[in-house]
Amino acid sequence: MEVQRQIVEIAGILSSQRGALVKGLIDHDTRWWKKNLIEEVFNPKEARVIQAIPISAMNLPDKQVWRGNARGTFSVSSAYYMAKDRVAAHHAKCSVRENLVRRKVTQDPSCPICGMEKELVYHVLWECIATKDVWGASAKFFQKSSFDAHDFLQVSEHFFQTCAGKDLQLFVVTTQKIWFRRNTWIHEGKFAHLNMLVLGSKRAVEELQFLYQGCEETSAVTKEIWQTPAKGWVKLNCDATCDKHKGYMGMGVIIRDHSSQVMAARSTTRLGYFEPTVAEAMSLLHGVSLCKELGFQNLMVEGDAQIVI
Ligand SMILES: [Zn+2]
Repeated sequence: MEVQRQIVEIAGILSSQRGALVKGLIDHDTRWWKKNLIEEVFNPKEARVIQAIPISAMNLPDKQVWRGNARGTFSVSSAYYMAKDRVAAHHAKCSVRENLVRRKVTQDPSCPICGMEKELVYHVLWECIATKDVWGASAKFFQKSSFDAHDFLQVSEHFFQTCAGKDLQLFVVTTQKIWFRRNTWIHEGKFAHLNMLVLGSKRAVEELQFLYQGCEETSAVTKEIWQTPAKGWVKLNCDATCDKHKGYMGMGVIIRDHSSQVMAARSTTRLGYFEPTVAEAMSLLHGVSLCKELGFQNLMVEGDAQIVI
């Protein structure tokens, strides 16, 4: 996992230079780092650290890893702490791009979208003219919010204190989509229209609400019977809910360890109506796939449909 973290770190450094990827640093014939290039781009200490990272000889495909926690899976709390770290960098008067200019990875410290300001996290997620358009076209409480903020941590704290439920989810999802749009612009030269972000965020929140409704129906039972797994084991709980009239189903899975700590969670929706037992089986498959993906070996499984388990 440490290796993944370091590789993701390098990816972050290279991402500011459009088209630059970690694989550009690897010689695919020898399956090892391009020593000369690394020593040219990075300072001596960084070059040593990079070259100490082992590279798989099996030519495995790339996969997305969330750098906010050790398991590489996304959670709102890890996003919050990442934002906090980035704001700390801002306080040190050191923007993302300025850092890259110092490292000679890029020549330009300005925002890659508007080109008018330094690319601070606060600017990307809140102040950039393209970002203001998104917040402006989103919910009214974003437009009408008046508060003093000098960094994105203060913006986040404001909404974490004044919003709850759907509104808070909309803030988090919209923030995530703005950041992904910035990355897609840098990596692929594609810039999503604001309507895609606004409508996409609202739809994601509706899907979450739909899943929560399904959870609430069984929560009373679940709270009473849920017990932690033994030490060294994880427990997978999965559930599905179907809406015959709207014609879609939702699946939610959660993996917790012996101390009730959430190790991972995932939810998704599918179009079409499925019989409840089939839907439960699909959610179980969804959960087991996630466990396999994350490498959990000692696994307990819990769900509503005994026939499926
Ligand atoms: Zn900008």
